[in-house]
Amino acid sequence: MARAGPARHESALNLQRRKLSVLGYINGMADTPDTEAKLNELLTLSHQLGETGRQWAILGEGNTSAWRDANTFFVKASGSRLGSLAAGQVATVQFAPILDALASGAALDDADVQALLKGAALGPPGVMPSTETLMHAYLLTLPGVGFAGHTHVTSINGLNCSPRGWAFLLAGRRLFPDEIVVCGIAPCCVPYVDPGVPLARAVQQKVSAYLDTYGVPPKTIYLQNHGFIALGKSASEVDAIHQMADKAAHILTAALSLGEPTALTPEQADRIYTWPAEHFRQKALGL
Ligand SMILES: [Zn+2]
Repeated sequence: MARAGPARHESALNLQRRKLSVLGYINGMADTPDTEAKLNELLTLSHQLGETGRQWAILGEGNTSAWRDANTFFVKASGSRLGSLAAGQVATVQFAPILDALASGAALDDADVQALLKGAALGPPGVMPSTETLMHAYLLTLPGVGFAGHTHVTSINGLNCSPRGWAFLLAGRRLFPDEIVVCGIAPCCVPYVDPGVPLARAVQQKVSAYLDTYGVPPKTIYLQNHGFIALGKSASEVDAIHQMADKAAHILTAALSLGEPTALTPEQADRIYTWPAEHFRQKALGL
């Protein structure tokens, strides 16, 4: 279903370019207090997403990132753990070489990717950015996206790994009003591809199609047989989206076990999405 929006007919790549040009695309790093605060927010978010009891990411699973400035972003280092992530395990990476490599469509083997990441990383010394850095670079250039969190939420992966669960997600339906308030009008779904470059390109393709349909970036992205991504303007929004998507996955699993789930109709979902009182609730929740 097409919805009106300023970006509706704009490709994701054009949106990236527009955002970068709007923000000036300045060169060089500047260590401002704001940058340090952003890094601390990213660490707090990482610890929340990696908290063992939540069953969203264990061991080295998952990765997080944050828009740092028009030229660079923060991303979790390869081999680190979300739950105990330290400032020295967060890489600062330049957007330009990563986005150029993605946009070129060139085939990239493991050695190419390692060289690309090494060349794009500005520090700390010896810290290698996550293998999903290409995907994060793209996601952080989307309008209004300041933070991205990728996890393997157990309840969500139950759906991602089930034909009936995946079919429900693909249908783009929502189950209850609060899910729309926090997680947006519809999910974005990416069929299985291998992690790394194939995943970055598949996510780019599906998010671009989502932008064409809805005019805004998705807040929730489901990766078949893999995991979940939440996109938010703040770290707290990425955590809130995770909490609500986890709850929705538990509800959907319960509904599937009882028969066929009853989703909100597109008309009901549209009404909630555009209802001024729900926008007030979003603001009150800091979303
Ligand atoms: Zn993953």
